[in-house]
Amino acid sequence: HDASTEQLFEINEITQEFELKIDKLRKIQNYFMKQLKIGLEKDGQNLSMVPSFVTSVPTGNEIGTYLTLDLGGTNLRVCKVILEGGGKIHIIEGQLYEISEDLKTGDITVLFDFIADCVENLLSKEWGDSIQKNDKIDLGFTFSFPIIQTAINKGTLLKWTKGFTCTGAVGNDIVSILQESFNRKSLPVKVTALINDTVGTALAHAYSHPKVILGAILGTGTNGAYFERLENIKKLNHNFDSSDKMIINIEWGAFDSEKVILPITQYDNKLDKESNNPNSQIFEKLISGMYLGEITRNILLHLIDRSLLFNGLSSKSLNQHYAFETKYMSIIESDNTETLENTKQILENLFHISITNLTDRQIVKRICQLVGIRASRLSSIALASIISYCKMEGNECCIGIDGSLFEKYPNFSIRIYNTLKEFFGENADKIGLHYTCNGSSVGAALAAFSANQSK
Ligand code: ADP
Repeated sequence: HDASTEQLFEINEITQEFELKIDKLRKIQNYFMKQLKIGLEKDGQNLSMVPSFVTSVPTGNEIGTYLTLDLGGTNLRVCKVILEGGGKIHIIEGQLYEISEDLKTGDITVLFDFIADCVENLLSKEWGDSIQKNDKIDLGFTFSFPIIQTAINKGTLLKWTKGFTCTGAVGNDIVSILQESFNRKSLPVKVTALINDTVGTALAHAYSHPKVILGAILGTGTNGAYFERLENIKKLNHNFDSSDKMIINIEWGAFDSEKVILPITQYDNKLDKESNNPNSQIFEKLISGMYLGEITRNILLHLIDRSLLFNGLSSKSLNQHYAFETKYMSIIESDNTETLENTKQILENLFHISITNLTDRQIVKRICQLVGIRASRLSSIALASIISYCKMEGNECCIGIDGSLFEKYPNFSIRIYNTLKEFFGENADKIGLHYTCNGSSVGAALAAFSANQSK
């Protein structure tokens, strides 16, 4: 089976829509850096540039035992984190709890009461009767949704993302609502620090890598946090003593939600319109794990509708929104069998496409590549912007990156690295891209430590 002229023509069209040359990437990078500066001056900008109120850069010598909570996507993680000093950390993982659709879309008190139950489980397992009367255990809460923070333990939710829509949360202080859930159950827990997963990743990576300039997330969503000099954060009117830096949560998932400069295709627009947060998180919708599969599905349906794929026949399962998960793209992209057997398995067994020929499967693989490469190139813009903004071109530095997309998607990190080479030439060799896990829990513990120091 060779591809027909019509198939080749259409794939060529889609390729042109998805390919991003370095000139375009540089234009977007310039725009990104402009938005970054505007966001530091005023509230409510395209890049929120949220001050984290974490003003100490970890040294590796911090000591203490903390409870940590990580809520921000697919799962809830509860951990006991022991900072042992000397750069050593001991993490005792509690259970991973999946957040059900009901919890994601119900009232916030129901979700947080559920979280309190999960914390209680770990408390009784790990602390048991050792907690003295009147003792409170400090908890660092990693909450990865857009918030406006006014103190290290105070943050108002601006809006939900990543499929969450709980009532009673937007506009309210997340720490108070969580603390009330603990109080209702009389748990000896004090919510000491509220951070974002990117802030956590930056903090945790700094514990062992002094040259870190940025913590980034490439998972269900995407975002980044970096160390900024206090004098540059024009919109903050606080007096801070001793330290001269603060971690800023960029909230880059929302970058260019006005669609001024990003290369938005019809497939992205379809996804955006049908999402539960249209016209927001546009950058994230082109890049992150939650969406790549859906963009791919939209393209496959487009080709099916034109009888250019699977003989024009779709299936009930392929017609389901979000059914084509990003992890299938990973399998398809790494399918190096001659006849694309793994791809065939997914299409025929999982998605019940009655029969596929090799050309079909090659087209599907090609589409996955186009969507995956575009995502890695666009995410490189955010990294390149921070590298340039911090004037680190040519200097040794590193970036800590957490998230399953970065960890598991084939070649994602190599593609980022190659794109950084297009941006910075040989100087890209001086940039370390480090996969970091546990950023959320270790970072939350470090933030709780920092909060206690500055009391
Ligand atoms: P979080 O929800 O905290 O961001 P992860 O970093 O694990 O958690 O990211 C989960 C996302 O990663 C899912 O939305 C999914 O799309 C994506 N993902 C999971 N497994 C894979 C995989 N094998 N390849 C690519 N993406 C994956």
